[in-house]
Amino acid sequence: MRYRLPALPYPLEALAPVISREALDLHHGVHHQAYVDKLNAALVEHAWNGRESVDELLRNLESLPDPLREPVRNFGGGHSNHSLFWETLTPSPSQPTRHLAKLIDRDFGNLAVLRHHFDKEAAGLFGSGWVFLVWDPAPGALDVVALPNQDSPWSQARLPLLACDVWEHAHYLDYRQRRDAWVRDWWHLVDWRQVEKRLDL
Ligand code: MN
Repeated sequence: MRYRLPALPYPLEALAPVISREALDLHHGVHHQAYVDKLNAALVEHAWNGRESVDELLRNLESLPDPLREPVRNFGGGHSNHSLFWETLTPSPSQPTRHLAKLIDRDFGNLAVLRHHFDKEAAGLFGSGWVFLVWDPAPGALDVVALPNQDSPWSQARLPLLACDVWEHAHYLDYRQRRDAWVRDWWHLVDWRQVEKRLDL
């Protein structure tokens, strides 16, 4: 047992009605757990004894041995993305403050424009995947990126700050197929204090 499912920082019913108790339990306890289990199984199968965090594994994806690359990309990505997802949600509404608020204004104009870009990426992503707010160290700026499946911004040398899961399993119980309504309501749960803390990673 190398990687473990992180405990949720709030009770199972805390994010309802956007994420019902049943949906949160299933998404965290079954879907996320499956990524952790499959990642651990792949590392055992390929006798990988490194001590890296899952984010470090993803950051060094290209240098991993060939048979490990795909399971780390999919299952390690699933573990990392979901961990970020839970970490940056809260039942207590918040707004970007201080340093983060300044960066949003500098790089997007304002929060409404950031959301417009983000929502457009979510609507336009074909199939399953994630939309991320990232810190891109190359230009030294915030950016919004959509990635397919369980791909991680870490593998593209970007720091993921906030992530919205647009796989159907993320919204089907509470929103059926209405991805746009899911993303619209998900914004109410964003914990901007945690997002700002991640800028220091
Ligand atoms: Mn998910």
